Amino acid sequence: MKSISYLTILGSTGSIGTSTLDVVARHPERYRIMALTAQCQDNILFEQCIRFTPRYAVLLDDGAAMRLAQRIAVAGLDVEVLCGAAALERVASLSEVDTVMAAIVGAAGLRPTLAAARAGKKILLANKEVLVMAGRVFMDEVQKFGATLLPIDSEHNAIFQALPHNYSRHHTDSLAASGISKILLTASGGPFLNTTLSALQHVTPEQACAHPNWVMGRKISVDSATMINKGLEIIEAHWLFNAPADAIQVVVHPQSIVHSLVQYVDGSVLAQLGNPDMRIPIAYALAYPERIETGSEPLDLFKIATLDFIAPDFIRFPGLALAYQALRAGGTAPAVLNAANEVAVAAFLNKQISFLAIPRLIEDVLADLPVTTVNTLEDVLTADAAARLMANDLMKNMICLS
Ligand code: NAD
Ligand code: MG
Repeated sequence: MKSISYLTILGSTGSIGTSTLDVVARHPERYRIMALTAQCQDNILFEQCIRFTPRYAVLLDDGAAMRLAQRIAVAGLDVEVLCGAAALERVASLSEVDTVMAAIVGAAGLRPTLAAARAGKKILLANKEVLVMAGRVFMDEVQKFGATLLPIDSEHNAIFQALPHNYSRHHTDSLAASGISKILLTASGGPFLNTTLSALQHVTPEQACAHPNWVMGRKISVDSATMINKGLEIIEAHWLFNAPADAIQVVVHPQSIVHSLVQYVDGSVLAQLGNPDMRIPIAYALAYPERIETGSEPLDLFKIATLDFIAPDFIRFPGLALAYQALRAGGTAPAVLNAANEVAVAAFLNKQISFLAIPRLIEDVLADLPVTTVNTLEDVLTADAAARLMANDLMKNMICLS
């Protein structure tokens, strides 16, 4: 008889959150939900409470929490509704919780994910911005408190599967000492893979969010369209796998079937393949080291027939070079890149700036803010705040000029 694992899902109403619940629902003998959380989507959270009866439901927003509490009371559900940022940290670190799915989008996920690390949880990490902002601080806490870190991002999950057994559990292993020459990080290229630079100037948020292979939240969809998502993933891979920037190469693979590859010194290249369905990496991390059923369609290689691999275009997608630059600069630079990107993406989604202004804004913020060393979480948060301020200032000028 398997023991039951108790889960907190941070960001349960989002794309990763709902895919996680889909996998959980297929294995009621293995998983129980301790807490579900969202920013303000009380309707979806209510439906999830009916279906999964968690002990806690957390909303960041006061009004949404009040509405949810009323409906929970009327429905007679035994679910405690909490509200605010501190409650997110609380449910991420409850002693009854075994596993935390970190699926909040952006910097808002940093503190609750750190709380899970400090409580020594098994962390399923979807929220890549945590590692981009605070890679050193976060990895140190994971190690110090004996937390287990399993990547959800499909590429990093693939790399994890293709690395030597237990490689990333010893956070001091190095690629070179393990016979690895390179990590090949695949990228779909997003919806604008074949769009000309002049046409990119006029693309809309709707076009940017229409990803050819994946259905995702709006922020990561725009990140994929600018390919800044791949830039964030380069930095994510650096921290997860102790990989120097030079050992991470981006390979555009429009079919999103090969989810990434690891090249060994003997010439062997190991890859993980599968349909583009986030339930696969989620289930892998949930059940690790076992394998469980996900509801995903079996891969039909005859139907796919062709797999293409193309070099990335650093001119049309300058976000890639900016990410390498920030990773090499170290210290606060990746946190600055992340914060500037969050501000720029929100402005693009609000139709305040153009698509091509996103990498331009990041470049300007990176150029204007000096890189400082990161020793503590405060150092990260200070850099994040300064970058947001600077991005907003620069954007005002941009809007005036355009
Ligand atoms: P989403 O926008 O669909 O969902 C985000 C979730 O976070 C929602 O539940 C929302 O309520 C919650 N949230 C948003 N802002 C919050 C805040 N300020 N405080 C508390 N909660 C907040 O996003 P998603 O596509 O599920 O992505 C989640 C994370 O996973 C991102 O970091 C993304 O980069 C990463 N990721 C997603 C995919 C994917 O296929 N969707 C793949 C790889 C990695
Ligand atoms: Mg990815």
